[in-house]
Amino acid sequence: MGLEEGRVRVGLTERLYYTDSYLREFRANVIEASDGGCRVYLDRTAFYPASGGQPFDTGTIGDAAVIEVADEGDRIAHITGAPITPGDVGCAIDWPRRFDHMQQHSGQHLLSAVLVELYGAATVGFHLGAESSAIDIGASLTDIQLAAAELRANEIVFENRPVSISFEDASAAGGLRKASEREGTLRIVNIEGLDRSACGGTHVCSTGEIGPVLIRKLERVHGNLRIEFLCGLRAVRRAHADYDALARIGRTFSCALDDAPALAAAQVQSLETAEKARRKAAIELAQVRGRELYEATAPDAAGLRVVVERVAAGVSEEEVRSRARGFTAQARACFIALFAGARPAALMAVSADAGVHAGNVLKAAVTCLGGRGGGSAQVAQGSIPAPEAGEELVSALQRTIGR
Ligand SMILES: [Zn+2]
Repeated sequence: MGLEEGRVRVGLTERLYYTDSYLREFRANVIEASDGGCRVYLDRTAFYPASGGQPFDTGTIGDAAVIEVADEGDRIAHITGAPITPGDVGCAIDWPRRFDHMQQHSGQHLLSAVLVELYGAATVGFHLGAESSAIDIGASLTDIQLAAAELRANEIVFENRPVSISFEDASAAGGLRKASEREGTLRIVNIEGLDRSACGGTHVCSTGEIGPVLIRKLERVHGNLRIEFLCGLRAVRRAHADYDALARIGRTFSCALDDAPALAAAQVQSLETAEKARRKAAIELAQVRGRELYEATAPDAAGLRVVVERVAAGVSEEEVRSRARGFTAQARACFIALFAGARPAALMAVSADAGVHAGNVLKAAVTCLGGRGGGSAQVAQGSIPAPEAGEELVSALQRTIGR
Protein backbone atom coordinates (compact mmCIF):
# COMPACT_ATOMS: atom_id res chain seq x y z
CA MET A 1 0.00 0.00 0.00
CA GLY A 2 1.02 3.60 -0.06
CA LEU A 3 4.50 3.68 -1.51
CA GLU A 4 4.41 6.29 -4.19
CA GLU A 5 0.77 5.33 -4.61
CA GLY A 6 2.04 3.24 -7.47
CA ARG A 7 2.59 6.18 -9.74
CA VAL A 8 5.07 5.46 -12.51
CA ARG A 9 7.62 8.23 -12.87
CA VAL A 10 9.49 9.03 -16.01
CA GLY A 11 12.92 9.96 -14.75
CA LEU A 12 16.60 9.50 -15.06
CA THR A 13 16.71 6.14 -13.36
CA GLU A 14 14.76 3.31 -14.99
CA ARG A 15 13.22 1.26 -12.19
CA LEU A 16 13.61 -2.34 -13.27
CA TYR A 17 11.87 -3.64 -10.15
CA TYR A 18 8.60 -2.05 -11.29
CA THR A 19 8.15 -4.72 -13.94
CA ASP A 20 10.33 -7.53 -12.63
CA SER A 21 10.58 -8.13 -8.88
CA TYR A 22 12.64 -11.26 -9.51
CA LEU A 23 15.55 -9.56 -11.27
CA ARG A 24 18.55 -10.07 -9.00
CA GLU A 25 21.50 -9.44 -11.32
CA PHE A 26 21.73 -6.79 -14.01
CA ARG A 27 24.16 -4.56 -15.84
CA ALA A 28 23.85 -0.78 -15.81
CA ASN A 29 25.72 2.36 -16.67
CA VAL A 30 27.08 4.49 -13.88
CA ILE A 31 26.08 7.95 -15.04
CA GLU A 32 27.25 9.81 -11.96
CA ALA A 33 29.24 9.02 -8.82
CA SER A 34 29.40 11.86 -6.32
CA ASP A 35 30.56 12.05 -2.67
CA GLY A 36 33.97 10.64 -3.57
CA GLY A 37 32.42 8.07 -5.87
CA CYS A 38 30.22 6.55 -3.13
CA ARG A 39 26.88 8.12 -4.10
CA VAL A 40 26.11 6.30 -7.30
CA TYR A 41 23.46 7.00 -9.96
CA LEU A 42 22.73 4.35 -12.58
CA ASP A 43 20.74 4.60 -15.82
CA ARG A 44 18.67 1.60 -14.65
CA THR A 45 18.39 -0.22 -11.38
CA ALA A 46 16.80 -3.23 -9.72
CA PHE A 47 17.71 -1.86 -6.27
CA TYR A 48 14.57 -0.92 -4.38
CA PRO A 49 14.93 2.36 -2.45
CA ALA A 50 13.42 2.80 1.01
CA SER A 51 9.87 3.80 0.28
CA GLY A 52 6.31 3.42 1.54
CA GLY A 53 7.19 1.22 4.51
CA GLN A 54 9.42 -1.22 2.58
CA PRO A 55 13.16 -1.02 3.38
CA PHE A 56 15.83 -0.59 0.71
CA ASP A 57 17.75 -3.41 -0.93
CA THR A 58 21.40 -4.12 -0.32
CA GLY A 59 23.85 -5.95 -2.59
CA THR A 60 26.81 -5.00 -4.78
CA ILE A 61 27.64 -2.61 -7.59
CA GLY A 62 30.85 -3.92 -9.13
CA ASP A 63 32.90 -5.00 -6.14
CA ALA A 64 31.45 -2.39 -3.80
CA ALA A 65 28.78 -3.13 -1.24
CA VAL A 66 25.53 -1.18 -1.52
CA ILE A 67 24.73 -0.04 1.98
CA GLU A 68 21.72 2.19 1.36
CA VAL A 69 19.40 3.07 -1.50
CA ALA A 70 17.47 6.34 -1.48
CA ASP A 71 14.62 7.57 -3.65
CA GLU A 72 15.28 11.14 -4.81
CA GLY A 73 12.16 11.39 -6.95
CA ASP A 74 13.43 11.18 -10.51
CA ARG A 75 16.64 9.44 -9.55
CA ILE A 76 17.71 6.68 -7.21
CA ALA A 77 20.91 7.13 -5.20
CA HIS A 78 22.96 4.05 -4.27
CA ILE A 79 25.29 4.59 -1.31
CA THR A 80 28.30 2.30 -1.66
CA GLY A 81 31.04 1.24 0.74
CA ALA A 82 33.75 1.94 -1.85
CA PRO A 83 34.07 4.40 -4.77
CA ILE A 84 32.60 3.49 -8.16
CA THR A 85 33.91 4.84 -11.47
CA PRO A 86 31.49 5.78 -14.29
CA GLY A 87 30.89 3.20 -17.00
CA ASP A 88 29.30 -0.20 -17.45
CA VAL A 89 29.02 -2.22 -14.26
CA GLY A 90 27.60 -5.52 -13.04
CA CYS A 91 25.12 -5.28 -10.14
CA ALA A 92 23.55 -7.83 -7.82
CA ILE A 93 20.96 -7.42 -5.12
CA ASP A 94 20.97 -9.37 -1.86
CA TRP A 95 18.25 -11.78 -2.90
CA PRO A 96 17.38 -13.43 0.46
CA ARG A 97 16.84 -9.96 1.96
CA ARG A 98 14.79 -8.77 -1.02
CA PHE A 99 12.67 -11.93 -1.24
CA ASP A 100 11.93 -11.68 2.48
CA HIS A 101 10.73 -8.10 1.91
CA MET A 102 8.55 -9.29 -0.98
CA GLN A 103 6.98 -11.91 1.26
CA GLN A 104 6.26 -9.42 4.04
CA HIS A 105 4.93 -6.74 1.67
CA SER A 106 2.68 -9.07 -0.32
CA GLY A 107 1.59 -10.59 3.00
CA GLN A 108 0.63 -7.11 4.16
CA HIS A 109 -1.53 -6.53 1.07
CA LEU A 110 -3.15 -9.91 1.68
CA LEU A 111 -3.81 -9.31 5.38
CA SER A 112 -5.05 -5.75 4.80
CA ALA A 113 -7.43 -7.00 2.09
CA VAL A 114 -8.74 -9.79 4.33
CA LEU A 115 -9.37 -7.32 7.18
CA VAL A 116 -11.47 -5.21 4.78
CA GLU A 117 -13.23 -8.27 3.38
CA LEU A 118 -14.15 -9.66 6.82
CA TYR A 119 -14.63 -6.55 8.95
CA GLY A 120 -14.43 -3.48 6.73
CA ALA A 121 -11.32 -2.50 8.69
CA ALA A 122 -9.09 -0.22 6.61
CA THR A 123 -5.32 -0.19 6.96
CA VAL A 124 -4.02 3.27 7.83
CA GLY A 125 -0.32 2.50 8.20
CA PHE A 126 2.31 -0.11 7.35
CA HIS A 127 5.83 -0.68 8.59
CA LEU A 128 8.20 -3.43 7.51
CA GLY A 129 10.83 -3.84 10.23
CA ALA A 130 13.97 -5.90 10.54
CA GLU A 131 12.30 -8.32 12.95
CA SER A 132 8.61 -8.01 12.28
CA SER A 133 6.09 -5.96 10.33
CA ALA A 134 3.01 -4.15 11.46
CA ILE A 135 -0.16 -2.71 10.03
CA ASP A 136 -2.28 -0.12 11.79
CA ILE A 137 -6.03 -0.31 11.40
CA GLY A 138 -8.52 2.32 12.49
CA ALA A 139 -10.88 -0.24 14.02
CA SER A 140 -10.99 -2.31 17.18
CA LEU A 141 -11.02 -6.08 16.64
CA THR A 142 -11.16 -8.94 19.09
CA ASP A 143 -8.58 -11.72 19.35
CA ILE A 144 -11.15 -14.09 17.87
CA GLN A 145 -11.72 -11.82 14.87
CA LEU A 146 -7.98 -11.53 14.27
CA ALA A 147 -7.54 -15.30 14.54
CA ALA A 148 -10.23 -15.65 11.86
CA ALA A 149 -8.42 -13.10 9.67
CA GLU A 150 -5.14 -15.00 10.11
CA LEU A 151 -6.87 -18.24 9.10
CA ARG A 152 -8.47 -16.61 6.04
CA ALA A 153 -5.13 -15.11 4.94
CA ASN A 154 -3.46 -18.52 5.17
CA GLU A 155 -6.28 -20.13 3.19
CA ILE A 156 -5.63 -17.66 0.38
CA VAL A 157 -1.91 -18.51 0.58
CA PHE A 158 -2.82 -22.19 0.08
CA GLU A 159 -5.03 -21.29 -2.89
CA ASN A 160 -1.87 -19.94 -4.53
CA ARG A 161 -3.65 -17.11 -6.28
CA PRO A 162 -1.74 -15.12 -8.90
CA VAL A 163 -0.35 -11.75 -7.85
CA SER A 164 0.13 -9.50 -10.88
CA ILE A 165 1.25 -5.99 -11.65
CA SER A 166 -0.68 -3.75 -14.05
CA PHE A 167 -0.23 -0.19 -15.15
CA GLU A 168 -3.53 1.64 -15.43
CA ASP A 169 -4.64 5.19 -15.92
CA ALA A 170 -5.78 6.67 -12.62
CA SER A 171 -9.06 7.90 -14.11
CA ALA A 172 -10.01 4.39 -15.26
CA ALA A 173 -8.56 2.30 -12.43
CA GLY A 174 -11.52 1.04 -10.42
CA GLY A 175 -11.97 -1.26 -7.46
CA LEU A 176 -8.91 -0.10 -5.55
CA ARG A 177 -8.81 -0.99 -1.86
CA LYS A 178 -7.75 2.56 -1.16
CA ALA A 179 -8.61 5.31 -3.64
CA SER A 180 -5.52 6.99 -5.08
CA GLU A 181 -5.28 10.75 -5.29
CA ARG A 182 -2.63 10.47 -7.99
CA GLU A 183 -3.19 11.31 -11.60
CA GLY A 184 -1.63 9.65 -14.64
CA THR A 185 -0.47 6.06 -14.70
CA LEU A 186 -0.80 3.98 -11.54
CA ARG A 187 1.09 0.80 -10.78
CA ILE A 188 -1.44 -1.60 -9.37
CA VAL A 189 -0.76 -4.82 -7.47
CA ASN A 190 -3.57 -7.34 -7.99
CA ILE A 191 -4.26 -10.39 -5.86
CA GLU A 192 -6.67 -12.35 -7.99
CA GLY A 193 -10.25 -12.09 -6.80
CA LEU A 194 -9.27 -10.25 -3.61
CA ASP A 195 -7.34 -7.03 -3.86
CA ARG A 196 -6.27 -4.18 -6.09
CA SER A 197 -3.87 -1.68 -4.55
CA ALA A 198 -1.81 1.14 -6.01
CA CYS A 199 1.73 0.37 -4.84
CA GLY A 200 5.32 0.82 -5.98
CA GLY A 201 6.72 -2.04 -3.89
CA THR A 202 8.16 -5.40 -4.85
CA HIS A 203 5.82 -8.38 -4.66
CA VAL A 204 5.78 -12.15 -5.09
CA CYS A 205 3.96 -13.50 -8.14
CA SER A 206 1.59 -15.88 -6.34
CA THR A 207 0.17 -15.95 -2.83
CA GLY A 208 1.78 -19.35 -2.16
CA GLU A 209 5.19 -17.66 -2.09
CA ILE A 210 4.13 -15.53 0.86
CA GLY A 211 4.35 -18.65 3.01
CA PRO A 212 2.74 -18.85 6.44
CA VAL A 213 1.10 -15.70 7.79
CA LEU A 214 1.41 -15.31 11.56
CA ILE A 215 -0.27 -12.59 13.59
CA ARG A 216 1.43 -11.81 16.88
CA LYS A 217 1.37 -8.81 19.18
CA LEU A 218 -1.54 -6.35 19.24
CA GLU A 219 -1.01 -2.83 20.52
CA ARG A 220 -3.09 0.33 20.80
CA VAL A 221 -1.19 3.18 19.14
CA HIS A 222 -2.66 6.67 18.76
CA GLY A 223 -6.20 5.32 18.77
CA ASN A 224 -5.41 2.70 16.12
CA LEU A 225 -4.86 -1.02 16.52
CA ARG A 226 -1.29 -2.04 15.56
CA ILE A 227 -1.14 -5.65 14.37
CA GLU A 228 2.31 -7.21 14.31
CA PHE A 229 2.64 -9.97 11.74
CA LEU A 230 5.28 -12.14 10.08
CA CYS A 231 5.28 -14.04 6.82
CA GLY A 232 7.40 -16.77 5.20
CA LEU A 233 10.53 -17.95 6.96
CA ARG A 234 10.21 -15.14 9.50
CA ALA A 235 7.00 -16.76 10.71
CA VAL A 236 8.65 -20.18 10.90
CA ARG A 237 11.70 -18.85 12.77
CA ARG A 238 9.55 -16.85 15.17
CA ALA A 239 7.27 -19.79 15.87
CA HIS A 240 10.33 -21.89 16.61
CA ALA A 241 11.80 -19.24 18.93
CA ASP A 242 8.44 -19.03 20.71
CA TYR A 243 8.49 -22.81 21.12
CA ASP A 244 12.02 -22.71 22.56
CA ALA A 245 11.00 -20.06 25.10
CA LEU A 246 7.92 -22.00 26.12
CA ALA A 247 9.92 -25.24 26.33
CA ARG A 248 12.38 -23.61 28.74
CA ILE A 249 9.49 -22.48 30.93
CA GLY A 250 8.07 -26.00 30.78
CA ARG A 251 11.43 -27.47 31.86
CA THR A 252 11.64 -24.97 34.75
CA PHE A 253 8.27 -26.13 36.02
CA SER A 254 8.80 -29.75 34.93
CA CYS A 255 5.45 -29.68 33.20
CA ALA A 256 3.93 -30.15 29.77
CA LEU A 257 4.04 -27.02 27.55
CA ASP A 258 0.27 -26.67 27.53
CA ASP A 259 0.20 -26.65 31.34
CA ALA A 260 2.94 -24.00 31.68
CA PRO A 261 0.72 -20.85 31.54
CA ALA A 262 -1.60 -22.07 34.33
CA LEU A 263 1.34 -23.24 36.42
CA ALA A 264 3.18 -19.94 35.97
CA ALA A 265 0.06 -18.01 37.02
CA ALA A 266 -0.32 -20.23 40.11
CA GLN A 267 3.35 -19.67 41.01
CA VAL A 268 2.99 -15.89 40.76
CA GLN A 269 -0.10 -16.06 42.95
CA SER A 270 1.66 -18.12 45.60
CA LEU A 271 4.70 -15.85 45.46
CA GLU A 272 2.48 -12.83 46.11
CA THR A 273 0.87 -14.57 49.08
CA ALA A 274 4.29 -15.53 50.48
CA GLU A 275 5.60 -11.98 50.00
CA LYS A 276 2.63 -10.54 51.90
CA ALA A 277 3.25 -12.98 54.76
CA ARG A 278 6.98 -12.18 54.75
CA ARG A 279 6.32 -8.44 55.00
CA LYS A 280 3.83 -8.95 57.81
CA ALA A 281 6.37 -11.10 59.70
CA ALA A 282 9.14 -8.55 59.08
CA ILE A 283 6.98 -5.79 60.59
CA GLU A 284 6.14 -7.92 63.61
CA LEU A 285 9.79 -8.82 64.06
CA ALA A 286 10.80 -5.16 63.82
CA GLN A 287 8.33 -4.30 66.57
CA VAL A 288 9.78 -7.02 68.78
CA ARG A 289 13.30 -5.73 68.01
CA GLY A 290 12.11 -2.25 68.98
CA ARG A 291 10.96 -3.55 72.36
CA GLU A 292 14.25 -5.45 72.84
CA LEU A 293 16.18 -2.31 71.94
CA TYR A 294 14.19 -0.47 74.60
CA GLU A 295 15.15 -3.06 77.23
CA ALA A 296 18.80 -2.75 76.25
CA THR A 297 18.85 1.04 76.34
CA ALA A 298 19.70 2.75 79.62
CA PRO A 299 17.55 5.74 80.62
CA ASP A 300 19.29 9.11 80.74
CA ALA A 301 19.41 11.42 83.77
CA ALA A 302 15.89 12.58 82.98
CA GLY A 303 14.69 8.97 82.76
CA LEU A 304 14.25 9.12 78.96
CA ARG A 305 15.50 6.30 76.75
CA VAL A 306 16.84 7.62 73.44
CA VAL A 307 18.23 5.71 70.46
CA VAL A 308 19.58 7.06 67.19
CA GLU A 309 19.61 4.65 64.27
CA ARG A 310 21.62 5.36 61.13
CA VAL A 311 19.59 3.32 58.68
CA ALA A 312 21.65 0.97 56.53
CA ALA A 313 21.09 0.87 52.77
CA GLY A 314 18.42 -1.60 51.73
CA VAL A 315 16.44 -1.42 54.99
CA SER A 316 12.87 -0.40 54.27
CA GLU A 317 11.28 2.65 55.81
CA GLU A 318 8.38 0.43 56.82
CA GLU A 319 10.74 -1.74 58.86
CA VAL A 320 12.33 1.27 60.60
CA ARG A 321 8.89 2.69 61.39
CA SER A 322 7.88 -0.65 62.92
CA ARG A 323 11.02 -0.73 65.06
CA ALA A 324 10.33 2.86 66.18
CA ARG A 325 6.73 1.89 67.00
CA GLY A 326 7.94 -1.07 69.09
CA PHE A 327 10.44 1.15 70.91
CA THR A 328 8.11 4.07 71.64
CA ALA A 329 5.20 1.86 72.72
CA GLN A 330 7.11 1.72 76.02
CA ALA A 331 7.28 4.51 78.60
CA ARG A 332 9.55 7.57 78.28
CA ALA A 333 11.09 6.69 74.91
CA CYS A 334 12.45 8.59 71.90
CA PHE A 335 13.55 7.02 68.60
CA ILE A 336 15.45 8.96 65.94
CA ALA A 337 16.37 7.44 62.56
CA LEU A 338 18.54 9.00 59.88
CA PHE A 339 18.23 7.93 56.24
CA ALA A 340 21.38 9.11 54.45
CA GLY A 341 21.34 10.04 50.76
CA ALA A 342 21.28 12.97 48.39
CA ARG A 343 18.42 14.32 50.47
CA PRO A 344 18.90 13.05 54.05
CA ALA A 345 15.67 12.26 55.85
CA ALA A 346 14.91 11.83 59.53
CA LEU A 347 12.19 9.99 61.39
CA MET A 348 11.41 10.92 64.99
CA ALA A 349 9.05 8.93 67.18
CA VAL A 350 8.36 9.50 70.86
CA SER A 351 6.22 7.86 73.53
CA ALA A 352 3.13 9.75 74.68
CA ASP A 353 4.84 10.59 77.97
CA ALA A 354 8.19 11.73 76.52
CA GLY A 355 7.39 15.40 77.10
CA VAL A 356 8.36 16.27 73.51
CA HIS A 357 6.14 17.14 70.52
CA ALA A 358 7.83 15.22 67.70
CA GLY A 359 6.11 17.16 64.90
CA ASN A 360 7.08 20.59 66.25
CA VAL A 361 10.63 19.58 67.13
CA LEU A 362 11.35 17.94 63.81
CA LYS A 363 9.78 20.73 61.78
CA ALA A 364 11.95 23.33 63.55
CA ALA A 365 15.13 21.28 63.00
CA VAL A 366 14.63 20.62 59.28
CA THR A 367 13.47 24.18 58.60
CA CYS A 368 16.72 25.49 60.13
CA LEU A 369 18.63 23.38 57.60
CA GLY A 370 16.52 24.49 54.63
CA GLY A 371 14.35 21.38 54.53
CA ARG A 372 10.73 20.48 55.06
CA GLY A 373 8.82 18.16 57.35
CA GLY A 374 6.44 17.72 60.24
CA GLY A 375 4.00 15.28 61.75
CA SER A 376 1.98 14.46 64.82
CA ALA A 377 2.97 14.78 68.48
CA GLN A 378 4.31 11.22 68.45
CA VAL A 379 5.64 10.58 64.94
CA ALA A 380 7.21 13.00 62.47
CA GLN A 381 9.47 12.96 59.47
CA GLY A 382 11.24 15.39 57.19
CA SER A 383 14.16 15.85 54.86
CA ILE A 384 16.83 18.41 54.05
CA PRO A 385 18.46 19.31 50.73
CA ALA A 386 22.10 19.13 51.94
CA PRO A 387 23.60 15.61 51.64
CA GLU A 388 26.40 16.35 54.14
CA ALA A 389 24.14 17.81 56.86
CA GLY A 390 22.50 14.55 57.99
CA GLU A 391 24.49 14.34 61.25
CA GLU A 392 23.82 18.02 61.92
CA LEU A 393 20.11 17.24 61.72
CA VAL A 394 20.50 14.36 64.19
CA SER A 395 22.41 16.63 66.61
CA ALA A 396 19.72 19.30 66.35
CA LEU A 397 17.03 16.74 67.21
CA GLN A 398 19.07 15.38 70.12
CA ARG A 399 19.57 18.90 71.50
CA THR A 400 15.80 19.48 71.56
CA ILE A 401 15.40 16.54 73.88
CA GLY A 402 18.17 17.73 76.16
CA ARG A 403 21.10 15.71 74.81
ZN1 LIG B 1 2.16 -1.96 -1.00
